[in-house]
Amino acid sequence: MSEINLKNFSSFEEIKQYFREQAKKLHPDKGGDKEEFLTLLDWYQKVLERFEEKHEIEIVNNCPLIGNYLFSVLELKVEEIALGGKKKIQIMGEEVICPACNGTGKKKNGLTKNCGFCKGSGSIEYKDKRKNINTYFTCPYCKGSGSVLIEKCEECKGKGKKRVQREVYIDIPLGLKEGDIIFVPKERIDSKYDLYLEVSVIPHPYFTLKDNNLVYKCKIPFWDVILKEEITINTLEGREKIPSKLFTKTPPIVIKGRGPFLKNGKRGDLLVDFQIYIPDGIPSKAKKLILQAVNIIESQRNFQRE
Ligand SMILES: [Zn+2]
Ligand SMILES: [Zn+2]
Repeated sequence: MSEINLKNFSSFEEIKQYFREQAKKLHPDKGGDKEEFLTLLDWYQKVLERFEEKHEIEIVNNCPLIGNYLFSVLELKVEEIALGGKKKIQIMGEEVICPACNGTGKKKNGLTKNCGFCKGSGSIEYKDKRKNINTYFTCPYCKGSGSVLIEKCEECKGKGKKRVQREVYIDIPLGLKEGDIIFVPKERIDSKYDLYLEVSVIPHPYFTLKDNNLVYKCKIPFWDVILKEEITINTLEGREKIPSKLFTKTPPIVIKGRGPFLKNGKRGDLLVDFQIYIPDGIPSKAKKLILQAVNIIESQRNFQRE
């Protein structure tokens, strides 16, 4: 299997095709040989690596000033940037005949005018002088109807052709930030054109990316810090409890290695940027009770006003 010569294939598409066929044939579930199947997988993995090395999705500073490429803005959630993974995007596909007007470029059932070619009669007279007879042909321009549509098709703006959107998946490069430009080689998306995508970060209610870290902003009522053993925070992996004691220090609380995945294979930190929250309009009854509590605290022998 390892001797399969890549020269036998004229495109990556053919390699994929070959792999699919072989995988079906050799699959152990279908009675194929397990060893051969694994060898095939191994070979394909190596081909993929070699292929993807050459056609890497990468972060670039700018798109070229000239050249045949598509440019678009890629909106990404903070979590998508932090965790990486696959992203489904729409790209411009090939031009096809406009389905709304069947390629005529004219609006169906739109306004009409008399056909100028046959003057509205739908047929064209041909005089055969030798035989001295008149022959009639169906007008090729209006196809015998005598009238032609004059309004442009709205779908294709009268071009008769249109490009259709196509869905492709790309790997989100790690370490992205607002305004970065991602270069996607055409080979990665089976397209005629390379793709340049400008990253736009969708604002998140409480997460922001800062340098290599993820900042989580939150407000904690002061009594939570006093009365609770643990306080719930949001992380990239979901809601999680951390000791309330941590909230008695100056923010942020640094949670090591729980931030965004980085290019170097490591993870940034999660920074809990908290604010101790004191609500407005505490009722006087509650204030009295708080005062009682303060008196008890201050009367403790070890109490010191810092
Ligand atoms: Zn059309
Ligand atoms: Zn006509």
